Amino acid sequence: MIACDLCALDCGKQPFTLETPHGTLNFCCEGCRGIYQMLNEINAPPAQPVQTMAPATERKKP
Ligand SMILES: [Zn+2]
Repeated sequence: MIACDLCALDCGKQPFTLETPHGTLNFCCEGCRGIYQMLNEINAPPAQPVQTMAPATERKKP
C-alpha cells in the first residue's frame, strides 16, 4: 500500500506521481497532486529563461 503524500489515504494500484527535487511523491488522486503542486509551487518542467543567441553571421560592408 502506498499512502497519499497529501491526505495519507491509500493510493491504490496506480498512484498519481509527482517528480520533485526531493524525490517522487505519490497521491491518491489528481486533485491531491494538484493541491500539493499549488501549495509547493512545483512546476513539472523547470522554468528556464530563454536566451536568444545573437546571430552568428554578421554582414560585412564591402
Ligand atoms: Zn490524497
